[in-house]
Amino acid sequence: MFSNGVLVYSEYDEGAIHPVAFELLGKSREIADRLGVEVWGVIVGYRIGDDKARELIYYGADRVFIYDHPRLEYFDPVLYRDVLVDLVERVNPSVFLFGATPLGRSLAPRVAAAIGAGLTADCIDIQVDENGDIIQVRPAFTGNILAYIKTTSRPVMSTVRYRVMKMPNRDTSRVGEIIRLAYSLGRDSGIRVLGRISRRSVDLGRADIVVAGGRGFRKKEDLKMLEDLANLLGGVVGVSRPLVDEGWMPRERQVGFSGNTVKPRLYMAFGISGSPQHIAGMRGSEVVVAVNIDPSAPIFKIADYGIIGDLYEVIPKLIEELNRIKRG
Ligand SMILES: Cc1cc2nc3c(=O)[nH]c(=O)nc-3n(C[C@H](O)[C@H](O)[C@H](O)COP(=O)(O)OP(=O)(O)OC[C@H]3O[C@@H](n4cnc5c(N)ncnc54)[C@H](O)[C@@H]3O)c2cc1C
Repeated sequence: MFSNGVLVYSEYDEGAIHPVAFELLGKSREIADRLGVEVWGVIVGYRIGDDKARELIYYGADRVFIYDHPRLEYFDPVLYRDVLVDLVERVNPSVFLFGATPLGRSLAPRVAAAIGAGLTADCIDIQVDENGDIIQVRPAFTGNILAYIKTTSRPVMSTVRYRVMKMPNRDTSRVGEIIRLAYSLGRDSGIRVLGRISRRSVDLGRADIVVAGGRGFRKKEDLKMLEDLANLLGGVVGVSRPLVDEGWMPRERQVGFSGNTVKPRLYMAFGISGSPQHIAGMRGSEVVVAVNIDPSAPIFKIADYGIIGDLYEVIPKLIEELNRIKRG
């Protein structure tokens, strides 16, 4: 077969490819062009149509490998690991990238351990130096510095955060090869999926408008006004970590270094001081509006619009004004 390509694990769930795969294909195209190799995607699941593979080609893949089997319908970390190890043995990739999604974070280390490779988690960039070596960039020391990690063994394996890489253009004139691979899933993984409960989880990473609250809120019930404001704006609520630690909001709502990375068109921060760990998760926002009673709060340094004021006065006024506009 062929070898040395840059391989992207393309997460497939409920009939859709997770968009982090498209971002990774864009970055892979850059890396592969520098190294003079191909870009590959791999999809694991059940009833995967060629149209899904073609999407990967439109975003930069030269070849797409598919493992399609009823036992791969739901994420089974053991079976998924086994088929990816099979693929690595067949095609010998030089780089293997995963999205740092909950699934990617569970799967990538299992594959790395099985093939004896290293793994750099939560990368925010992948570069190629003048010698053709791969440099993985990731925050270190709670986001205060960036570590540049050179890996000389192959394959170089990374998980990469969603929404930190640029989304490439979808080019429907691109052509590539779709290869369906058979693998004998002989052994019992010991995992039985008895049923599946679809959770209506929020995806902060994909939100266009994020309305975020921090420790300026005095009690959990007060977050209701943040939700009202988010609903009026068509946005979603995010929070700083202390509110999650307090149990006021689930972890999936946390913005920051140890939470979600967001890149909305509008980020509104109410009662958030702007710690480096918080900013690490929202600095890619297009427009930042900050409301804080303390004029020296660091959040104002990165805000496009700052309001020095009490969120308990500002939010009700914003809600009132938005309702007035809505009523016409
Ligand atoms: C390893 C590690 C990982 C971390 N990861 C994250 C992360 O992912 N996300 C994250 O957010 N944090 C993270 N943190 C915590 C981070 O260091 C800060 O403690 C946290 O971001 C502070 O949250 P905050 O801004 O809500 O609270 P504070 O820093 O306490 O700020 C509250 C702000 O509210 C203002 N305020 C008070 N009352 C009002 C009012 N009535 N109206 C308007 N403003 C008001 C105050 O002036 C103040 O600026 C992490 C820390 C560590 C060590």
